[in-house]
Amino acid sequence: MAFCNKCGAEIPEGANVCPACGEPVNKAAAAANAAQNAAQNILNTADTTAEFDPADIEQNKIISLFSYLGILFLIPLLARPDSKYARFHVNQGIIYFIVDLAVTIILAIVSAICTSIAGASLSILDLAAGNLGALGVVTTILGIISFIIAIPLLILMILGIVNAVTGKAKELPIIGKFRILK
Ligand SMILES: [Zn+2]
Repeated sequence: MAFCNKCGAEIPEGANVCPACGEPVNKAAAAANAAQNAAQNILNTADTTAEFDPADIEQNKIISLFSYLGILFLIPLLARPDSKYARFHVNQGIIYFIVDLAVTIILAIVSAICTSIAGASLSILDLAAGNLGALGVVTTILGIISFIIAIPLLILMILGIVNAVTGKAKELPIIGKFRILK
């Protein structure tokens, strides 16, 4: 026999929600469902593949993947100036490049400030003895933050490359709406 977590009412077998208050019976499953829906919504970006010439896509899908590899977006930009498909991905890649650069710069500034504050109290002798104190903690936290930020950026890069190579003119989640190239 099961009872509602929220109101304590008895829940009949097989019911998904509490008959008294409507609370979902399996909160873990409901939360997983909500997370899956949210992830699908984020990935469900505008797809304008149909507006592109299939021959253009076929000829330029490989070179377009360079759009997402940092400054290498220059390769499709300069080598395929007449390809609408390549320009679509170069535009996405430039936005990615700017966001990635901005994040890197902000992290570097924050790291420099935090480590200089945390390290200010340390003497050369402390450092020589490996006695890092607050600096050690700050360095660890900064490392974890950098790692956490790197994961979504890596996912965006992979999504962009997969879209380019599979012939899809599909925007990147979150950042892909902006247009820099016409
Ligand atoms: Zn209830």
